[in-house]
Amino acid sequence: MALIVQKYGGTSVGNPERIKNVAKRVAKFTAQGHQVVVVVSAMSGETNKLIALAKEVQPNPDPRELDQICSTGEQVTIGLLSMALKNIGIPARSYTGGQVKVLTDSTFTKARILSIDETNMRRDLDAGMVVVVAGFQGVDADGNITTLGRGGSDTSGVALAAALKADECQIYTDVDGVYTTDPRVVPEAKKLDTITFEEMLEMASLGSKVLQIRSVEFAGKYKVKLRVLSSFQDEGEGTLITVEEDKNMEQPIISGIAFNRDEAKLTMLGVPDTPGIAYQILGSIAEANIDVDMIIQNVGHDGTTDFSFTVNRGDFAKAQAILETIKVQLGAREVTGDNKICKVSAVGVGMRSHPGVASKMFKALADESINIQMISTSEIKISVVLDEKYLELAVRVLHRTFGLDQ
Ligand code: ADP
Ligand code: ASP
Ligand code: MG
Repeated sequence: MALIVQKYGGTSVGNPERIKNVAKRVAKFTAQGHQVVVVVSAMSGETNKLIALAKEVQPNPDPRELDQICSTGEQVTIGLLSMALKNIGIPARSYTGGQVKVLTDSTFTKARILSIDETNMRRDLDAGMVVVVAGFQGVDADGNITTLGRGGSDTSGVALAAALKADECQIYTDVDGVYTTDPRVVPEAKKLDTITFEEMLEMASLGSKVLQIRSVEFAGKYKVKLRVLSSFQDEGEGTLITVEEDKNMEQPIISGIAFNRDEAKLTMLGVPDTPGIAYQILGSIAEANIDVDMIIQNVGHDGTTDFSFTVNRGDFAKAQAILETIKVQLGAREVTGDNKICKVSAVGVGMRSHPGVASKMFKALADESINIQMISTSEIKISVVLDEKYLELAVRVLHRTFGLDQ
């Protein structure tokens, strides 16, 4: 007998029929004698609808109230799934994050989980019930409902698996595993049987939303056995996220291509090239709670320099306004911005032992006349910022260049 945490994403619970199918899948596991905790997302499109609704009333929604609203999506699904389970004779009980209690900090809309009380879940599991928990939500020390950021049900699933010391955490979604790149963009993408935590972390942080980055961090930290599977197929082992590289196997140099359409670039032109410039520019941006991704400062000439960085597209207007206000005080010439960019990255632990990956990547892009606007590298990834019109082409070309479609 094993204890399994299964998480089902929005599409997998997208309508009553699919919810009934999830119940049937859960029943297969309980029939084998396993204990099951199910974590569900809101039905597909619901969270977007709730956010849009909130914005109709308050264009820049109050974060506490937004969480109050957004958390309702998952509350509907847990009730429906518990009903569907009971209908087929499986005893089940639903819990909101607060009822479990998934304690978080008070950072509304992107709260972090601090602790999980397993008492209620253990009692129900021991009584032979399936426990159905609302993903994406928790409660802070003052009893306020919080949410964990978009895609946060993955993190709920992994965190519950860690708290319960589950044998496995299965993430059921609308693809049958982690692919060499998003199979919706490159149909030739190949499913990976395994991927290391390190690579999955990079892929997730560079835009592959198949797993929320925090869920991967959590799984790595608490050694949760994590697997991504299809909720629409009965067969298949999905993709196992592994702790270690398989030392016996020749590592591919590149494991996957990730991309992110959600980026925007800002540049301060003609800033006096003096100590403290980066601090003054990025300090003001950080004060406004805006995360900065890539940063480039050009070599100065005529005593001035150009300073560029990228932010999430949603923060573009705010960041631009901040730069306009500090421009005068810094004595800069001009502020420019571009919110039609994207970031494309090649990820692979095999890169460590293989020089020349970057030049291969740059040549492949040059051969397609794709201009690179910014570059950033680490030991296991190379990212480039491009005009967003080249996104699909660049991803396809790099996928082919690194032999991922073989
Ligand atoms: P869920 O609602 O189940 O959480 P998501 O939409 O959040 O599902 O994540 C699954 C989607 O992630 C897939 O439909 C796919 O388009 C996308 N995706 C992006 N990169 C990858 C990748 N490398 N492998 C598999 N899927 C990917
Ligand atoms: N429903 C939430 C979202 O759409 C959480 C999730 O699906 O993981 O972001
Ligand atoms: Mg998701």
